[in-house]
Amino acid sequence: MTEQPGDHLSTIIRLLLQVGKISRQQVEHAARIQTKLTTFTPLLKILKDLKFVADQDVRDTLRTTASPVRIGDLLVELGYISPEDLEAAIRIQKESDSQEKLGRILVKHNFIDEQLFIEILSIQMGYSFIEPSLTNIDRELCDRIPKTVMLTHNFIPIKSDDRAVRVAFADPLDHEAVQTARRFCGEGIVPVIAQIRSIRKTIELLTEKKAGKALAMDTSTVVGTVNTIILEAIKSKASDIHIEPMEDRLQVRFREDGVLNHFKDFPREIVPALVSRLKIMCQADITEKRRHQGGRILFAYDEGQLDLRVSFFVTIHGEKIVLRLLNRKQELYDLQAIGLTPRMLSRFLEDAVYQPSGVLLVTGPTGSGKTSTIYSCIHALKSPQVSIITAEEPVEYVIEGVAQCSIDPKIDLTFEETLRHIVRQDPDVIVIGEIRDTYSAEVAVQAALTGHKVLSTFHTEDSIGGLIRLLNMDIAPFLVSSTVVSVLAQRLLRRVCPHCSVDAKPTPVQIQRLRTTVRDLDGAAFKKGRGCSQCKQTGYRGRIGVFELLVLDEPVRTAILERRTSYEIRTISINQSGLVTLLEDGLVKAAAGVTTIDEVLRCLPILSPPRPLIELRRLAGE
Ligand SMILES: [Zn+2]
Repeated sequence: MTEQPGDHLSTIIRLLLQVGKISRQQVEHAARIQTKLTTFTPLLKILKDLKFVADQDVRDTLRTTASPVRIGDLLVELGYISPEDLEAAIRIQKESDSQEKLGRILVKHNFIDEQLFIEILSIQMGYSFIEPSLTNIDRELCDRIPKTVMLTHNFIPIKSDDRAVRVAFADPLDHEAVQTARRFCGEGIVPVIAQIRSIRKTIELLTEKKAGKALAMDTSTVVGTVNTIILEAIKSKASDIHIEPMEDRLQVRFREDGVLNHFKDFPREIVPALVSRLKIMCQADITEKRRHQGGRILFAYDEGQLDLRVSFFVTIHGEKIVLRLLNRKQELYDLQAIGLTPRMLSRFLEDAVYQPSGVLLVTGPTGSGKTSTIYSCIHALKSPQVSIITAEEPVEYVIEGVAQCSIDPKIDLTFEETLRHIVRQDPDVIVIGEIRDTYSAEVAVQAALTGHKVLSTFHTEDSIGGLIRLLNMDIAPFLVSSTVVSVLAQRLLRRVCPHCSVDAKPTPVQIQRLRTTVRDLDGAAFKKGRGCSQCKQTGYRGRIGVFELLVLDEPVRTAILERRTSYEIRTISINQSGLVTLLEDGLVKAAAGVTTIDEVLRCLPILSPPRPLIELRRLAGE
């Protein structure tokens, strides 16, 4: 009984055609677009994007038809979940014996936001969707129904302009609930659909208002809540906590392995107390609610203490708070373990890390693991005979035996001020958190000229871009070519979950986008995760570094002195200096089944076609 989503696609489209909501020309037009898209997009979604058809049309059509369309297929067709998501959810449903409805599974495992799901459910069932609140419910009717009855059956009467009484149900197909509502509101009710959470919340608000109960949360609860959120984030090795007030609730999400995952929702009423609590913890101004603010928290717990950088950002629904977890205990310390291929690792150690002086740059966008790599280098260089000093904004991990300075402009401890003093500290190794202006670039180059080893990061796409950026900061080409020893560009790609990985053949579209050929991929063993409980159904677990190491040897130095273009420097590096590009390194790792082609396409710049896999493996020294 395996049905392709495509079978149903034609069902809905056929129905829409039948009732005249769309024309044949429109369907053909959408189909033409579909063939041109590189990623699979359902036809109905394209028709919607083209504004040929609206949700209301689909809803009207489905209401009048006898042939039911399954909710999962509808979600796929409207483009809200992928066919793979649906497969994964069906698998979870089969694996668990709980008889849970597919919809609940999709929501519970974060395939789809609950509110959105209910809206789609309303399309499928042909009922309108409503968000009950104290302002749109029928108070008079509510007063006549015992609250326990409404809470048991999850319904609430809605104010109505015409004569028909509208009642919001969590499940309009729940026969008992509808019968009960009829008893209190009359036979002629019009069922509408609403989130169970909003129905219950509105009933509770109604009760509380009556009892005159204050809505303020007591402070001990809030202190406990904040502590729990932070401790849970530490436990799940999250890098950031996002606390976001929404219209009807407070949403908390954690960034884990670079991706935001839903943690928990809290009642909206907790927001003022929680924001105040966090502001007190980080000594921000608790009376200021209309401006963005920042602060720091030193959080002590059983296993140690943790530094958190806090940002309050004013949104239309209140202050959104992001906490970045710093000074985390990191396992990435060992350079051997960050994912450099054998040959790249030995080159990096010999030609860059262990060079007595010179500038070593690590580049990449935010979240690409630059800082971790710098820390790994510090770890490799650290010894009782070496003096290492850092200027970071802020210190992200604490390393014993290293003089780390956390920049804090709030108390006028600026980057410039710190860099001025750093060279007088007689260091062997200087770590500059990030080169972001001409001044810090000059300090780095000057320090290298006077025999220091300088480690720093840069915000550029690839390794050559790092060099060009330095030149654009008015650093003379001869200074760049004589001080910079190497530029390492990097990204973090998600690792395939080892518990659910299966073989995956690249699609023609993927091969085309990678700018390679089937023959050049000979010998590859691509994999992907099917999704399991170990990886929260994502198919990924943990991350792996992908690198591009540019070593400034004679050909590259000459190219810089001759002010060649970045394209020319790139070609010279690849042909004469053994440069393996980010794309090529990613491809080698995907071909070994460590990460996926999707991750390679999502994260890596594709500047030139990769070389054949067999050659890349030789270059990697594997
Ligand atoms: Zn898995």
